[in-house]
Amino acid sequence: MSETLTIALSKGRIFKDTLPLLAHAGIVPKDDPETSRKLILDTNRDDVKLVIIRAADVPTFVEYGAADLGVTGKDVLLEHGGEGLYEPLDLKIARCRLMVAGKPGVAPSRRLRVATKYLTITRNYYAAQGRQVDLIKLYGSMELAPLVGLADCIVDLVETGNTLKANGLEPLEHIMDISSRLVVNKAAMKMKHARVKAFIERMSEAVENNSHK
Ligand code: AMP
Repeated sequence: MSETLTIALSKGRIFKDTLPLLAHAGIVPKDDPETSRKLILDTNRDDVKLVIIRAADVPTFVEYGAADLGVTGKDVLLEHGGEGLYEPLDLKIARCRLMVAGKPGVAPSRRLRVATKYLTITRNYYAAQGRQVDLIKLYGSMELAPLVGLADCIVDLVETGNTLKANGLEPLEHIMDISSRLVVNKAAMKMKHARVKAFIERMSEAVENNSHK
């Protein structure tokens, strides 16, 4: 039997959108992470396993070789730093925008206070413009921060804009477009080169097919 290939994925949108791409590469999981509590999923292939982890942990698992490959958002990769990983493919799934959002027409007289879970990206964004801001780290429900006076604005992912609207906030500045990427452990790229290369090629074809739909 050939060596095992381990692929790190997160539940939810990324798993759902990655499934058809994996199917094109001939990989079908035997369990559904939404209903199974298993963290290691077998697939139709004895030599391919999926590990189900938080999106923010995918770069760590892949960097340390606990998974050979992984799928996670560009936002997560930028925040992590992306060292120790190859990022060979934009999967063009889970697409959204990273934006500054806030209440319309609010300009504070003091230094701008920005709430976000994306400290690194946000710091770099304002620094590149020479703007000094105070950052407040949050882990979720960022939209609440401007409503209760914790911050003047937020930096968060926006897809339809419905969450902002429902909370009386508006998109103010577009920082960057985000999508999920395939990442590869550097040693696996060398040691399992033929298999990893073939997998990337199949995934790349699937992305092409997707974008023509
Ligand atoms: P929406 O209301 O469609 O603009 O979605 C915004 C909410 O969904 C925010 O809480 C975001 O953090 C989250 N969100 C939007 N797109 C993504 C994505 N691609 N991956 C993860 N979370 C997202």
